[in-house]
Amino acid sequence: MSRIVLKGVNKHFNNNHILKDLDLTIEEGDFMTLLGPSGCGKTTTLRIITGLENPESGIITISDKEVVNGELRHYTKPSKRGLNLVFQSYALWPHMTVSENVSFGLSVQKYSKAETKEKVGNALEKMQILHLKDRYPSELSGGQQQRVAIARAIVTEPKVLLLDEPLSNLDAKLRLDMRAELKRLHHELKTTIIYVTHDQVEALTMSTKIAVFFEGVLAQVAPPRDIYRYPANIRVASFIGNPKINFIDADCEAVNTGTLKMETSLGTLHIPSKNVYSGKADLAIYPEDIQISTERTANGIPCAIYSVLPAGSETLVQLTTKSNLNLLVKVIGELDVEIGKTVWIDFPMDKVNVYDRENGELVQ
Ligand code: ATP
Repeated sequence: MSRIVLKGVNKHFNNNHILKDLDLTIEEGDFMTLLGPSGCGKTTTLRIITGLENPESGIITISDKEVVNGELRHYTKPSKRGLNLVFQSYALWPHMTVSENVSFGLSVQKYSKAETKEKVGNALEKMQILHLKDRYPSELSGGQQQRVAIARAIVTEPKVLLLDEPLSNLDAKLRLDMRAELKRLHHELKTTIIYVTHDQVEALTMSTKIAVFFEGVLAQVAPPRDIYRYPANIRVASFIGNPKINFIDADCEAVNTGTLKMETSLGTLHIPSKNVYSGKADLAIYPEDIQISTERTANGIPCAIYSVLPAGSETLVQLTTKSNLNLLVKVIGELDVEIGKTVWIDFPMDKVNVYDRENGELVQ
């Protein structure tokens, strides 16, 4: 069992409280992504798990074995934790071929020549770079170098693979390819992966679970679908949508269990809810959940087209309501509308999330 548990982990750098009472469990086989804006403490968390940094307090166990006890100043050496870390910079040896770079990771483990050759061959095959085995890093593209770095990490068959922004140096097309490769690799190896990124699309596409951080505090840990559909609070909701989620001011009255009555600048909305709530609220609806019609519809809300941004497979439309609320709508394919024209929008009420204005938490 390579379960990793962090309990009450605290880390300061120069009086700055970087990680605040962090509790996080990574189950065996998880593809856990640590997601959050720059500087929120993702890399520090990864470095603490590997042992490159030590927290002042908190406990970390790997496979039920305590590797960190901050209070007791007990820290197991990084090499004894059975983890393997791939950094954003590939850090390949320039004077070694691809095969030599990958086998370098095995050299301390005293395998025979034949065993080493077989293991290196398997790792290169998994990353689909066996044909490049005799090349030097300077003869490889960025994407190929990244594959070599990952092959070097998996050749030792680590219990846990830690990846710190491994795709950030690649161009958009290669990044997309590598996302697919990493997901396939996780499926094949069944190894636990801890992955750091500030890119929410990367997190949503590859992970089995996402841990969202802000300023060293965990805001939500959940499978990607739940993070996307039910962001736990306003901050997660603002961070996760791409394009950004729409927010609508509301005054909420709980009519009966099962429905919240919302007074908004768009009119009165009845939103299904398991919880009872009354007070000021922020409603959140994704741009793709709003439908646009160029003809008047029965309950449609009239809006003026502010701007239209076609992007090939989809079109982003910026709208302004009569009460001057700006809304963003994503339409699949093309939409033939002119700036200034009136359209009518509808959205299903069960797609609207309700957030308590006071504490920013999800109500239903
Ligand atoms: P990014 O996405 O930019 O890499 P991150 O979420 O990974 O950000 P960390 O690298 O964990 O963030 O850094 C968290 C905070 O700790 C930042 O404010 C950073 O400046 C600070 N920090 C990290 N390492 C050190 C260090 N060795 N000394 C001092 N401050 C540090």
